[in-house]
Parts: sequence; structure tokens; C-alpha cells
Amino acid sequence: MPIYAYKCTECGHEMDVMHKIDDAAPTDCPACGRPALAKQLSAAGFQLKGSGYYATDFKNGGAKPAEAPSPACGTGACPACAG
Ligand SMILES: [Zn+2]
Repeated sequence: MPIYAYKCTECGHEMDVMHKIDDAAPTDCPACGRPALAKQLSAAGFQLKGSGYYATDFKNGGAKPAEAPSPACGTGACPACAG
């Protein structure tokens, strides 16, 4: 589960929130109570998990990593791949 960094635009309170991508982002600042939390671009707890993972938050038309198709066995020598 990813950890997101939030910062209150009203009082400057910073916090890390761990929640699912599908979950609604928190908006209320626990320090001042105002709905002014803004998600920061980088979080200390964010980790890339292996070469097969890439961020899905690229919404600026950036280049996506190429995904090369590979046979299930990786060698092409098994019956499934030979066919
Ligand atoms: Zn605040």
C-alpha cells in the first residue's frame, strides 16, 4: 500500500498517509481542521517495486516504458512456446 505525503496549504502541516489508490484522499487537516490538504508529488515511503512496475500517475503525456512480450517460460523451448 503506497504512502502519500500531504501538506496543508493553510497551516503548512505535513503528514504521511497510507491508503489504497482507490481510497478517497484525505482532505481535512488534523492540525487546523480545514479541508486544505494537498497531495505532494513525492513521499518518503514510496518505493518502486521491481523493473515491472511503473507509476501510473503520469498524466502529462510522458513516455511509457516499453513492455516487451516474453514467452511464459522465458526460453521458447517449452511446448507452449514452441507452438
Ligand atoms: Zn492545516
